[in-house]
Amino acid sequence: MSASDEVGRPDVVVVGAGVIGLTTAVVLAEAGLRVRVDAERPPGATTSAAAGATWGPFMIGPEDRVAAWAATSMPIFEELAAGPDETGVAVIEGTHQSLTPTQAPRWAVAAGARPCTEAELRPGYVVGWRRRSPVLDMPRYLAWLERRFTHAGGAVRAHAYRSLDEAAREASVVVNCSGIGAASLVPDPGVTPVRGQVVVVRHGGALREFFGDETPDAPELTYAFPHGDTAVLGGTVQRGDGSLEPSPAVSEAILRRCTAVLPELRGAEVLGTRVGLRPAREQVRLETAERPAGTDGTYGPARTGGTGGAVLIHNYGHGGAGVTVSWGCAAEVLDLVKQAGAPGC
Ligand SMILES: Cc1cc2nc3c(=O)[nH]c(=O)nc-3n(C[C@H](O)[C@H](O)[C@H](O)COP(=O)(O)OP(=O)(O)OC[C@H]3O[C@@H](n4cnc5c(N)ncnc54)[C@H](O)[C@@H]3O)c2cc1C
Repeated sequence: MSASDEVGRPDVVVVGAGVIGLTTAVVLAEAGLRVRVDAERPPGATTSAAAGATWGPFMIGPEDRVAAWAATSMPIFEELAAGPDETGVAVIEGTHQSLTPTQAPRWAVAAGARPCTEAELRPGYVVGWRRRSPVLDMPRYLAWLERRFTHAGGAVRAHAYRSLDEAAREASVVVNCSGIGAASLVPDPGVTPVRGQVVVVRHGGALREFFGDETPDAPELTYAFPHGDTAVLGGTVQRGDGSLEPSPAVSEAILRRCTAVLPELRGAEVLGTRVGLRPAREQVRLETAERPAGTDGTYGPARTGGTGGAVLIHNYGHGGAGVTVSWGCAAEVLDLVKQAGAPGC
């Protein structure tokens, strides 16, 4: 991360350098705005870097807005898959399977999933569906997003904000993409951590497709996403657990579950462990903040003044699907910035 503020006073400060902040920053910068990303943790050390990651809604709402944001993102990922070495995005086949009878979710059917044949089911599995999906090697993808952003004139700065008031002094528009950090920064008690741990292995090409166990009420997640000759194996859903410390016992359990279902992974070299905190919220918060009534609060839409406080746009609470909706959410933020009519925007 470059600790530069070469762009001078930016039009927009984006708080957060995860997939939500960086994608938002790319879209705003490519629309011609002077944008700076300020983030406590660099892209490679965010929750986003720990994700698997594939396209599909999980632990995110509301359903209708999520479907629209995800639909906007899909063709962009498909386009980025033309250069996987550079972007970290590939479109591959894979299956979701269940040990007990269940149905494919509506979003998967809408995205072209078809039932698995008997031969495609792993031992013990009774039903499944197959689809093609973008899979993202997140550390590589985030590095590519950062390059695309700086190429568009943006800058990324290491900075931890104690409050959004502090950010409001930096630009006429602040976009809050702080993920789990929103719990204390906003503050918003509705944002809670759902811890996820994954193991990264080198499999040397043995794993050709992605796999996800979709057994209803399964006590643990079991999934594998190949990225070339490495793969991300998961996972966990630990509600309310905010620890970023990897647990060796959890890693062992993940390896045991994954190799039981996917024997081709036996003997794969373990390269590392990643932990992320999904920013769970009943619904994504993507809106322009209203100036608190009866106060001279720092924030508000431009119509409340335009000369004083900054416009604050929230974009956080994406739960288990921030990657999936990232481009759709970023496009909506651009609309909100234009509507706000803040100075310089
Ligand atoms: C194991 C795992 C697997 C996942 N798999 C998928 C998947 O397959 N598909 C999918 O779509 N999603 C998946 N997700 C969910 C996805 O990773 C999240 O929804 C997404 O990363 C949220 O992105 P974000 O940018 O909001 O937050 P983050 O990536 O956490 O980034 C937040 C940024 O804000 C900064 N910040 C916070 N507070 C402050 C502050 N006070 N001052 C300055 N900066 C601050 C942080 O330092 C960081 O830079 C997965 C998550 C996990 C953990």
